[in-house]
Amino acid sequence: MTVAANEPAARSPLGLGPPRPLATRADDDRCPGVLALHEAEDGLLARIRLPGGRVSADQLDAVAALARHGNGLVEITSRASLQVRGLRAEAGQTAARVLRAAGLLPSASHERVRNVLASPLAGRHPLALAPTDQLVDELDRGLCADAALGGLPGKFLFAVDDGSGAVADQPADVALVVEPPAGGTPDPCLRLVVAGFPTSVRTTPSDAVAAALDAARAFLEVRAESGSRAWRVWELPGGARSVVQRLGADVEPVAAPGGRGGAVRIPGVCEQRDGRLAVTALAPLGRLERGAVSALAAAVRRPGSEARISPWRTVTVVDVAREDVESLVRDLRRLGLVVSPDSGWQGLSACAGLGACARARVDVRAAARGRALVRAAGAPDEHWSACERRCGEPRGVPVSVVAAGEVIVVASAGRRVEATTAEEALAALAAGVPAS
Ligand code: SF4
Repeated sequence: MTVAANEPAARSPLGLGPPRPLATRADDDRCPGVLALHEAEDGLLARIRLPGGRVSADQLDAVAALARHGNGLVEITSRASLQVRGLRAEAGQTAARVLRAAGLLPSASHERVRNVLASPLAGRHPLALAPTDQLVDELDRGLCADAALGGLPGKFLFAVDDGSGAVADQPADVALVVEPPAGGTPDPCLRLVVAGFPTSVRTTPSDAVAAALDAARAFLEVRAESGSRAWRVWELPGGARSVVQRLGADVEPVAAPGGRGGAVRIPGVCEQRDGRLAVTALAPLGRLERGAVSALAAAVRRPGSEARISPWRTVTVVDVAREDVESLVRDLRRLGLVVSPDSGWQGLSACAGLGACARARVDVRAAARGRALVRAAGAPDEHWSACERRCGEPRGVPVSVVAAGEVIVVASAGRRVEATTAEEALAALAAGVPAS
């Protein structure tokens, strides 16, 4: 992949926009899916999109069944998708059949563009302003019903924020953010946000999906007219403003709800607005064994709920009655998931690494396991990458460790240290990354 920077960084006026350089893509969009498997070092990889992160117990069973045709590993991605790893060459047709039967492949032509993030609590958080499940479903259906939108890049990302701010800081190309009622109306409305830029488009829930899909179409039009091969809105020559202008709208300097709903990413039990409970469990390094996926299906089926996957590699079970919480937490712990907030795993991630990616130069997953033992809960987010591509690194992560050439670069709070081994990198982090 080649990404060539050609302009200064594009930022939103509110600091909300992704601080990424404008870029031109010189390669093809090879984002994996179920019908377009990725060839990794440990076999073929199938990526399963879950709009809103929602996955039922039956669907988890289907994912576990597919994992029998691979090396048994299932991953949660930084976009709240699931990946089945190590599939054998003949597993492609099985993947399509099993996942289609489970409702996880509703559109062959649009499977890679069904990228819709939402808060796992979807309106149940005490700070939320409105439920969002229906909106996410409508957005997914509208996306799949429009043939032209099947041409969106596989990296193009939608987000729907319930007003809690849970996903307001995710690097979405097109977002709908619930805002308090205004202008004498009793109901909350939704603001269209393009690549982090709040726009003048405020809609009712019934018009919101059309506004989001119009923005995606505007991206495709601007991209075609400019001859760009951009995958993301901020990679267009005119950035977000070109899309906003195409919509006949303006960029507006309004406050965003970013950060207020951060509690949804912390493992533990959260009381919902309706008094029922939501239980969030973190999968260390985003990985689950096949057996754990089956057991997770059973665990969420028991209280009659479903699992909600998040970009923070968590699984949330919503609408749990108080009398069911203790046994659910016990079940989730048995699967190796972290259910308490005082864990060093919180905010700690690593790329696929050695054994899964041919480019890996360091066993970053082993190093991250070592870090989890000594890292304080609530420490700044930290990501380990086994090469310069920095796969899965969250945007703006405060602590990064990257194998770059012959060294491992440890960066934290504006300081950086070059280590030669993972052990040296771990020692540098333990010492607070003294400037070198
Ligand atoms: S960061 Fe590098 S080593 Fe890690 S998964 Fe990506 S390409 Fe592979």
